[in-house]
Amino acid sequence: LFQESFATSFPAVRVRFGAGVRHLLGDEMTALGVSRALILTTPQQADTGAEFAEALGAGAVGVFAGATMHTPVAVSESATARALELRADCVVAVGGGSTTGLGKAIALRTDLPQIVIPTTYAGSEATGILGQTEGGRKTTLTSAKVQPEVILYDAELVRSLPVSMTVTSALNAMAHAAEALYAQNRSPLSTLMALEGLRAFRAALPRVLDNPDDLRARGETLYGAWLCGTVLGSVGMALHHKLCHTLGGSFDLPHAETHAVILPHAIAYNEAAAADLLAPIATIFDGPTPGEALHRFALSMNAPTALRDLGMAEANLDRAADIAVQNPYWNPRPIERTALRQLLQAAWAGDAPQ
Ligand code: NAD
Repeated sequence: LFQESFATSFPAVRVRFGAGVRHLLGDEMTALGVSRALILTTPQQADTGAEFAEALGAGAVGVFAGATMHTPVAVSESATARALELRADCVVAVGGGSTTGLGKAIALRTDLPQIVIPTTYAGSEATGILGQTEGGRKTTLTSAKVQPEVILYDAELVRSLPVSMTVTSALNAMAHAAEALYAQNRSPLSTLMALEGLRAFRAALPRVLDNPDDLRARGETLYGAWLCGTVLGSVGMALHHKLCHTLGGSFDLPHAETHAVILPHAIAYNEAAAADLLAPIATIFDGPTPGEALHRFALSMNAPTALRDLGMAEANLDRAADIAVQNPYWNPRPIERTALRQLLQAAWAGDAPQ
């Protein structure tokens, strides 16, 4: 893993890990010097939010159960107004990337500290990145202001994640690690975390599928999510993430599922240009090439493998390729429209990566 030169920095984030650790939220608030939490959830997880509010008692000043996909600015503004009106001194986001995104959007506007209690593997809790949408346009910003201060990883909370979402969310997390391996600003630490994150998912995901209530295996996947999320926050991403951003933003495809479908194809696209860096993926997932190894792993986990099954029209593939080549960005292999269009065709049909 040694590199002759690198520069790196990691934000000061407190992480507490363990089954049942959510019950220590009150202690964590005290340690942070806060006592008036606004709890955030999606409407689907409103009951969980109510349980947290009840457990906190006077420590919770309200629940905002309106978090939604893509962090629309209008929702962020009304949640921010609520936080100010209730004189909240922190936000507690309980949920996946959408809920964490709302907490970040409030922090951006108010500087309130954030405690995140993740219930998916998306990894947003470990980054200073915020994606927001306004007028149908998704923009992304990176700021220390949106980096959550405290993360409580409780395996008991991911137990309720349906099996299909467990798999797609895990592949979403793995994609952060896979692209971190060839990031231009990688460091020995980001590579160490990325490889260990991939290993954790490789080891634990099959056990979670066998028994979704296996707390130890759930804990190991959450450990993978922490590592993968931390590398996402530490290094730059390339083709895979840009392509998923295009497909999600312009064609309204579901986030985690799109990552699951694209990952083997994006890694196959880059594998000749970053052969040594990606080689460990073939070893960890036991395949002839990194892309093929990820494809086989996804198949064995019953992950979605075709964009057409996610609602993507074949007639839109040309436009997707056009949008994806519009803004140039660094990638180990140059972004060539013809090759990218072929990648999209294979991903649309659910073919093996080329
Ligand atoms: P999500 O947060 O949108 O959750 C999807 C659905 O699953 C919601 O209805 C949610 O309530 C439900 N859910 C979540 N956890 C559950 C559980 N344990 N049991 C039952 N239901 C549960 O999905 P996601 O994939 O976690 O997040 C996707 C969003 O996060 C996207 O908008 C993406 O752009 C963003 N994201 C941002 C970053 C970042 O660093 N900024 C990183 C990753 C993802």
